[in-house]
Amino acid sequence: MSEMSDLYQELILDHKRNPRNFRDMPDATRAVDGHNPLCGDQLRLFVKVADGRVEDVSFIGVGCAISVASASMLTEAVRGKTVEEAQRLFAEMHDLLTSDHPHTDPAELGSLGALAGVHEYPMRVKCATLSWHTLDTALTGDEESVTTE
Ligand code: ZN
Repeated sequence: MSEMSDLYQELILDHKRNPRNFRDMPDATRAVDGHNPLCGDQLRLFVKVADGRVEDVSFIGVGCAISVASASMLTEAVRGKTVEEAQRLFAEMHDLLTSDHPHTDPAELGSLGALAGVHEYPMRVKCATLSWHTLDTALTGDEESVTTE
């Protein structure tokens, strides 16, 4: 274990213990359910979009440490961004988590970079990408639920 991965692990555990923006959002413009049957992670992601910008984002649900930490970090990273910026971030996170040769530098993603190590654990990749796929659907699609299967 390097010092860096210790730090990253601490960050993930902190978000799991104390998830940010973990709440219902009655005035959300979109709410999408995400489900990862492989692990049993389940979340509902809320977004409030106005003038092409993500004014607010929150989630509720149950899941493993990786899925909850990923969703918690997502809400911190995406709030205040334009829809386009949020979609670009989704693409970067997807690249980072699923590609064997990612073009994305985790160091440029702030705390989200902590999730990069998940790539080494194929069983957990869907735990980390679940909230991002759910966000992408909330911003672009018209489905009301997402599954990683
Ligand atoms: Zn999981």
